[in-house]
Amino acid sequence: MTLAPTVPMDEVWAKRLANRTHRMRPSAIREILKLTSQGDVLSLAGGLPAGELFPVAEVARATERALSLNGVRALQYGPSNGLPELREWVAGKRKGAEAYRVLITSGSQQGLDLIAKVLLDPGDNVAISAPAYMGALRAFDPYEPNYLPVDMDEEGIVPAALETVLAQGVKFLYVVPDFDNPSGRRASLERRQAIVEVCDRYGTLIVEDAPYRELRFDDTIYPPLFELAPDRVVHLGTLSKTLAPGLRLAWLLLPEQLVDIVEQAKQAMDLHTSTFGQSVAYELVKDGALEKRYPALREHYRSQRDVLVEKLHGALGDRLQFEVPPGGMFLWATLPEGVDATDLLRVAVEHGVAFVPGQSFYPREGKLNTLRLSFSLLDEDGFTEATKRLAAAFDAYGIRG
Ligand code: PMP
Repeated sequence: MTLAPTVPMDEVWAKRLANRTHRMRPSAIREILKLTSQGDVLSLAGGLPAGELFPVAEVARATERALSLNGVRALQYGPSNGLPELREWVAGKRKGAEAYRVLITSGSQQGLDLIAKVLLDPGDNVAISAPAYMGALRAFDPYEPNYLPVDMDEEGIVPAALETVLAQGVKFLYVVPDFDNPSGRRASLERRQAIVEVCDRYGTLIVEDAPYRELRFDDTIYPPLFELAPDRVVHLGTLSKTLAPGLRLAWLLLPEQLVDIVEQAKQAMDLHTSTFGQSVAYELVKDGALEKRYPALREHYRSQRDVLVEKLHGALGDRLQFEVPPGGMFLWATLPEGVDATDLLRVAVEHGVAFVPGQSFYPREGKLNTLRLSFSLLDEDGFTEATKRLAAAFDAYGIRG
C-alpha cells in the first residue's frame, strides 16, 4: 500500500485552485530532505523533540483522571477559546496576562495561521527576522504578505535594521526572542527593550513566538517581550517542546482588542481545540507538574548540544563556523564564503547525513552558505557517525580547512 503517492498537478486541476495556493509549492530542499527518510541517512535536519522524554505513563494516568473527573465534559463540544482552567493556568505563567486574553490553539502553528488570517491582506508588509522559522513563513504565505526581512546578529534582531523596516509601514513584526529556530539565538535584554521601544514608536504589533523559552541551558532569564509591552504583543506558547507535540496543545496571549476577532476566527476554523486533549493536558500541567519537568529537559538538551559541538569541532575543525546556542534545539552554522549549502546537502545525503540549508529560513534569497543542525534526535554514537559523514561530504565537495 502506498500512503503518499506523488501526483503531479495537471493544468485542469491547477486552474481549480485559489490564487493563495500559488505560494504553497514544495521547495527543492524539501524534495532533497524526503530522501533522508529512505535508507541509512542520519538526520541533523528534523526538529522533532526527543521522544524518550515524553511522559507516556503520566499521559495514561492523566487521561484516566480527566475521564473519571468529568468524562462527559471532556468528550463534549466546548468553548472556542478553550477550557477555563487551562486558560487560567496559562495566564498564571506570565506577568500582565489575564485569562480572558488567552485562547487555546491546536499547536502554535494554528496560532500563527489565526493571527495572519485576522491581520493580513494580500500585499501587506510583515517584518520578519532574517533568518526566520520556516513554518511561520509557510503559515503566513497563503495570506500573501510582502516580507521585509530584519537583519540579526548574535544578540537578536538589530534595532537599526528594524527601524528601517518599520519606517516602511508593517502590519506586525514576527520574532522568536528565546533560542530561535533556526538561529538558536537569545535576544539580549538591551535588544528586547530596543525592539519594544522601536515598535512602540511606530505603533507596530509584535508577534512573539516562544516555543523554546523553557529550554535554557544557563541561569540567565530575560523577560518575554509580552511582559515588556503586554498591550502591544501577541505571545505564542506551546506544550510541544516541554510535554509532547502530538498533544497539539498551545495558546495565544492576545492584546485585549484582538480577543473577540481571533476567537471568531478560531470558531470558524475548528470550533475549538479538542476538549479531550485540553482536559488531559490540564491534568498534566496543573499544580506545578509541568515546571517539575524543566530541569531534566534542560539537562538533556544541554548535554545533547555539548556532544554535537564537541563532535563538530573534532570532525570539521574550522571548516564550519557556528555559534554555541544558549538553549533550544538548534545550532546555526556558516560555511566558507562561496559554498552553497543546498549543493552541499546533495553531497551530504549521498554520504548518509542531512541538515537544513539556511536558505529555507529566508523569505527570498538568503545567505546561501548557512545551515541549521538539530541536536535533539541523535545519540552520542549517532553524532559521532553523522559528523564523520559530514566531514566526508566536506572532503568530497572540496571544502578545505
Ligand atoms: N514556532 C516555532 C519557532 C517552532 O519551531 C515550532 C515547531 N517547530 C512551532 C512554532 C510550532 O509548534 P507547535 O507544535 O506548537 O505547533
